[in-house]
Amino acid sequence: MNCKIARVIVDVPSRDTDRPFDYIIPDTMKDWIEIGSRVGVPFGHRTVQGFVIDLRPDSELNFARMKPIQELLDLMPPLPLDLVKLAEWMSHRYACSMIFALQAMIPTALKGKAERYIQLQEDIDPTDEDQTDEALYAVPPLLTGEEEQIVAYIKANGSVPMTMAHLSAQFPGQGETIKGLLRAGVLTETQMIKDKVRKKTVKTVTATVSGEAAEAALASFSAQARRQKEVLEFLLEVGVTISLQELLTTLGVTAGTVKKLAEKGFALIEDAEVFRDPYQDRRFKRTEPLPRTLEQELVYNKISEVLDSRSYGAFLLHGITGSGKTEVYMQTIERCISLGRQAIVLVPEISLTPQMVERFKGRFGNKVAVMHSRLSTGERYDEWRKIREGRVQVAIGARSAIFAPFSDLGLIVMDEEHETSYKQEETPKYHARDVAIRRAKQHHAAVILGSATPSLESYHAARSLDNDQYAPILLEMNARASGSRLPSIQIVDMREELREGNRSMFSRQLHAGIEARLERGEQSVLFLNRRGFSTFVMCRTCGYVAGCPDCDISLTYHQKSNNLRCHYCGYAVPAPSVCPECGSEHIRYFGTGTQRVETELSKLFPGIRVIRMDVDTTTEKGSHEKLLQAFREKKGDVLLGTQMVAKGLDFPDVTLVGVIAADTSLNFPDFRSAEKTFQLLTQVAGRAGRHQLPGEVVIQTYIPDHYSIVHASSHDYNSFVREELLHRKALHYPPYSRLILVTLSHEKLPLLLRMAENFTANLRGKAQQLGWFGNMDRFTRDVLDILGPVASPIPRIKNRYRFQCMVKYRGSLDAAELVRSVAETMLNDMRDSSFQISIDVDPQMLM
Ligand code: ADP
Ligand code: ZN
Ligand code: ZN
Repeated sequence: MNCKIARVIVDVPSRDTDRPFDYIIPDTMKDWIEIGSRVGVPFGHRTVQGFVIDLRPDSELNFARMKPIQELLDLMPPLPLDLVKLAEWMSHRYACSMIFALQAMIPTALKGKAERYIQLQEDIDPTDEDQTDEALYAVPPLLTGEEEQIVAYIKANGSVPMTMAHLSAQFPGQGETIKGLLRAGVLTETQMIKDKVRKKTVKTVTATVSGEAAEAALASFSAQARRQKEVLEFLLEVGVTISLQELLTTLGVTAGTVKKLAEKGFALIEDAEVFRDPYQDRRFKRTEPLPRTLEQELVYNKISEVLDSRSYGAFLLHGITGSGKTEVYMQTIERCISLGRQAIVLVPEISLTPQMVERFKGRFGNKVAVMHSRLSTGERYDEWRKIREGRVQVAIGARSAIFAPFSDLGLIVMDEEHETSYKQEETPKYHARDVAIRRAKQHHAAVILGSATPSLESYHAARSLDNDQYAPILLEMNARASGSRLPSIQIVDMREELREGNRSMFSRQLHAGIEARLERGEQSVLFLNRRGFSTFVMCRTCGYVAGCPDCDISLTYHQKSNNLRCHYCGYAVPAPSVCPECGSEHIRYFGTGTQRVETELSKLFPGIRVIRMDVDTTTEKGSHEKLLQAFREKKGDVLLGTQMVAKGLDFPDVTLVGVIAADTSLNFPDFRSAEKTFQLLTQVAGRAGRHQLPGEVVIQTYIPDHYSIVHASSHDYNSFVREELLHRKALHYPPYSRLILVTLSHEKLPLLLRMAENFTANLRGKAQQLGWFGNMDRFTRDVLDILGPVASPIPRIKNRYRFQCMVKYRGSLDAAELVRSVAETMLNDMRDSSFQISIDVDPQMLM
């Protein structure tokens, strides 16, 4: 098709620009512009980045008023067609602008910034619509000597984009002259998009002569050019392109020698692209597929059927920890690759440990790209390019790896599918599970959602009688693949401990357990439920708590820097030594829970080696891995940590797992708190006795009768789910409804209050008009209710007050669209740019 017009979504995040704009495709770009191309386009007085989302032979709009695309930013479009479609779906589903959805899909390295360059006006295309006749036919101004020098310099360097900084460095003290030239219209300023990261290149050398010509060349060197001759001889001998660096170190010659050789035309020096491979220094031991267990065989066959038929199919793989789910992932991926298709493996960021990477690298070698947030921007860009250019077949990564630009996706695996980190908390507030299912439908691919504790949403969908053709099929694995047994779990009632006079944070059972491990030379993992624990500073005398002046939240104490920081806005102050309110010296740091536990451990067990893993000890790149490696090498008796220690770790000598306070997450005001607690306990418990040695788990709690704790201790997912679903149903919470959380914010509280009331009223009115509004107890399928407005759990962040309202609905209502349109109408009417409405569809955190 001969397309003249590109429809472009521009990177201008405002409500008015959330639609495609039409641009003319210049002839020179005709062969290159595709849907998914990234372009630089004029927009107002700027150049902005944009994505081509459609091509048209013509446009309804006035052709003459349209501007041409200014730059094509990549020869190969960064987004394949299916991702552009997916972005459209995301923008609708999550009520966000298209540009946010598109930007979420490309690596940071490609999020370009506009840079300003100086050009000669005469180089500007005279057919440009915007140029006035005056500019075209004006008599060239007479230039002074200084001015002429500048113009000559730019002319001479015409091929190099000239930045303002470069030019002023060349002509120091002549800023005014340059400005004068700009004002006179001799020079002009243009903008270009600049990518954040360049492809990495190295210089390479190749001989350009061979055979007789080579003989003649070798004979032509004079005695002084002995070194050049040596280089050429060497190049002819190796016969391939080699890196300049290698050549220099092998022969001990200088770069100048090689350059002279190149000037004579006997060798070619080029820049060759290299891939930064973060894992290149590591050798991965090759592994072969294990003979499948009976359970694995059944599961494998079911998934293979779907893979072979090249049709959509989703599976919920509910398998206890150690049942061999990862082995199933790897074997189904192998089958997928053998069909010529590609696979994505999603893992929670926190479990993207070297162990996990090692397993996939060991099985698939250089067919795997790893997308890890701890990689540098450049490294991540290179991994991404391997995928886009079809050089790998498997991508493993956290949430955003769901956008891996494969062209023929056959399988998407989502491990630990219940993890909240699959939900992105910033715009676009997408859930990778829903995106995965959508993308799989587009590709007619299979999806495996794996977990030992599936989310209630997935489990309910798989069990529901709704006859939903997209619902996942439930597959179960109930035995450990290695034949080892699940650990025995003991619940300790901490109230009882206190009654018996034990004031320590360790129960007698846990204390004895750690002691026994120390004696036997085995290892323990101690887990502190971080949620709900804080690290605030409080005055024991007057009760003063250090809080952020701009956010209604207490400041967090950081031991390393000895200061107090706000986790929301970054505000920081030095830690006080006396109370700022009453001057008392009894101001205490309720240090991170883990620090306290560590201190207590050293007191109780002198000489104990504790490896502490929490946000404070893992901020540096690679520190997480180092700590785990140290524990594996048995340089520690105890691994102590927060959520980080709960996931995916597998150490043969760990025979004791202790949970210091199981119930802190139960007190969290969130309808999912029982589910989260159950999941966490099951996961932590799964760390013990994974190999020959039997495992033991001690759970300390103040609520020993809570059903999430009771069922976790008997490894009984089904009973937990049955009980939890009853609660959810009674209160109309997901999975029996869906939620949309709307947060409104403004600096002025009274104004915000009024707007929040208005918003809720408008929304209710619209829902009533549509016949959707009603009580959730109603016996209808399609119904929508609105709760609030109420102050948000964190009522102020960065000096902005926050109110929220919750939309609860079920059935096939397009509630997101309704909320979005009410919000937009209101924002348009308000004309107050500091008033913000944020929409979170299917929120995971209710704040
Ligand atoms: P999960 O992902 O369900 O926790 P893994 O795949 O990590 O389980 O398997 C747990 C352990 O069992 C691993 O050490 C793994 O090597 C082993 N394993 C898995 N499948 C088999 C099998 N078919 N035969 C023998 N060992 C297996
Ligand atoms: Zn005080
Ligand atoms: Zn703050």
